[in-house]
Amino acid sequence: MAASNDCLFCKIVAGLIPTDPVYQDEVVTAFRDINAQAPSHTLLVPNEHLASTNELQPEHDELVGRLVRTAPIVASREGIHESGYRLVTNCGREGGQTVMHLHFHLLGGRQLSWPPG
Ligand code: AMP
Ligand code: ZN
Repeated sequence: MAASNDCLFCKIVAGLIPTDPVYQDEVVTAFRDINAQAPSHTLLVPNEHLASTNELQPEHDELVGRLVRTAPIVASREGIHESGYRLVTNCGREGGQTVMHLHFHLLGGRQLSWPPG
């Protein structure tokens, strides 16, 4: 599986950096955000290294489907499946991306405002 030596989330996927794990299978890993912005804030990442949505190719369609479909599974475990949640990915500088390994934020547990800042 493609991994980047210098990538924080690749190290987390490999178990080299401890996190608060929520879910892992052969395609997706989910763990709690270290700087939670809501009562429930988890990150869903592909185990394979991809920098952002900008790198997605047709061969990744199944992976993206798995990532998105994992969100309600994690939301159920977090107890926010019925109350609702937000699934969002930041891309690039103006998108607010700080870790260059594709990830979805899953946020819930409070009323979220819109539009985001
Ligand atoms: P983004 O700004 O969209 O790239 O999101 C990166 C997220 O990774 C931020 O919400 C950080 O709080 C989170 N983060 C950074 N380092 C860690 C870590 N070691 N464990 C868990 N979450 C982290
Ligand atoms: Zn990575």
